[in-house]
Amino acid sequence: MTAVMWFRRDLRLGDNPALVEAAADGDVLPLFVLDPALWGPAGISRKLHLGDSLRALDASLRNRAGGDGGLQVVRGDPVRRVVAAAREVGASRVHVAADYGPYGSQRDEAVEQALAEHDVELVRTGSPYAVAPGRVLKDDGTPYWVFTPFSKRWAEHGWRGPIDPPRDVSYLTVDGTTDLPDLQRPDGLELPPAGETAARRRWQAFLDDRLDDYGTDRDKPGVPGTSRMSVHLKWGEIHPRTMLADLAERDSTGAAKYRSELAWREFYAHVLHHRPETARDYFRSEYARMSYDEPGELFERWKRGRTGYPIVDAGMRELRATGWMHNRVRMIVASFLVKDLHVEWQHGARHFMQWLVDGDLASNQHGWQWTAGSGTDASPFFRVFNPVTQGRKFDPDGAYVRRWLPELADAEDPHEPIDPIVDHAEERREALERWERIRP
Ligand SMILES: Cc1cc2nc3c(=O)[nH]c(=O)nc-3n(C[C@H](O)[C@H](O)[C@H](O)COP(=O)(O)OP(=O)(O)OC[C@H]3O[C@@H](n4cnc5c(N)ncnc54)[C@H](O)[C@@H]3O)c2cc1C
Repeated sequence: MTAVMWFRRDLRLGDNPALVEAAADGDVLPLFVLDPALWGPAGISRKLHLGDSLRALDASLRNRAGGDGGLQVVRGDPVRRVVAAAREVGASRVHVAADYGPYGSQRDEAVEQALAEHDVELVRTGSPYAVAPGRVLKDDGTPYWVFTPFSKRWAEHGWRGPIDPPRDVSYLTVDGTTDLPDLQRPDGLELPPAGETAARRRWQAFLDDRLDDYGTDRDKPGVPGTSRMSVHLKWGEIHPRTMLADLAERDSTGAAKYRSELAWREFYAHVLHHRPETARDYFRSEYARMSYDEPGELFERWKRGRTGYPIVDAGMRELRATGWMHNRVRMIVASFLVKDLHVEWQHGARHFMQWLVDGDLASNQHGWQWTAGSGTDASPFFRVFNPVTQGRKFDPDGAYVRRWLPELADAEDPHEPIDPIVDHAEERREALERWERIRP
């Protein structure tokens, strides 16, 4: 028998349950579909990372096949391309890791129906999460909307241990493949290495060198205190349960804190699964009635890191230069856009999705809604981040802002605003007045 393994957000061979299922069927066609609906809107950093990750997966597959075959990349509508590939190799089953996002789940239903017309089955095994979205429910069968009880139940639910890659698989090829995307790298854009080996290396280095101090260092953008694993998780270059198994062997506050951060990722996927419209709409609907400003010149200045507030500008420049931004700074720049510039969170979320290599619909849209006050157990709207005091508190020696704003190299007080585009105290008052008009 033959089977298709359709890779999407699981670009790895290790701990990949869908691949193991595919190999149990017989010879395997390793397929990736470059879907214009996802590829078109992606920003340059995301495209570059995906290209590199596909190249890494291709090399791993070739290694196993003695140099032949490799990842079969085709371009076009997944409905047509997956059906055509399955028919070409005579597969009776197409294996995937389930996708719970709004676009992915609809796409998979359409592919499933089209395959069924040819007596081919779409088999979903595993997902990009330790516990599949939809599984963790309250006793009465309804979803949790608050993180802490969710994470408790999530931990009680538990997950299986990691599994090895399948051995001695014969990988198949198809006609009509396209070259792996190889784009021009813009000057000044520095991305981390992509792929399964890079993910495992980074994870191991983090466990060895940083995990113990994670609880205290994770909030300091000037210190390399976080794992930078988000991009590897986003593309499934490593599975979270592989990481959870390593954490389970360590009994430390750092390990417990890290596990809780992974639970946030699972929580937001769970929320988006139950409320897919919150990718665009306010989770708390009263916030849609608040008065906002149209994005204009000030929004452009925010995007380019030219607001005059050092920590905001440093974050926005880090985003463009590396495709990543520190979590504390994501919160500060998001708060600044919504509460100082009065622009709706969706505009900022779109800009993030365009530039972030780890851009993930669930974590991004709900990270934004949390900051905007409209999300699940959101930060209360009236708690407005002051970009100057936040900078002084979390980047006390200014290492972070000096790195991204070379003009501050010798500044005595690097968090002091220079020609700020708005007055924070005034805009804070304005934001609270607007909020008073909609508060329940
Ligand atoms: C406005 C805003 C937008 C965000 N957009 C994204 C996004 O598009 N993609 C994304 O992966 N994360 C997003 N986050 C969450 C968080 O900022 C990143 O996951 C984190 O900065 C990634 O860096 P790290 O891997 O070094 O994190 P670490 O501190 O090492 O955390 C470990 C892992 O836990 C998960 N995690 C940590 N914090 C969060 C969180 N608040 N929500 C969900 N998962 C979390 C991530 O998978 C992360 O890789 C956003 C947060 C905010 C406030």
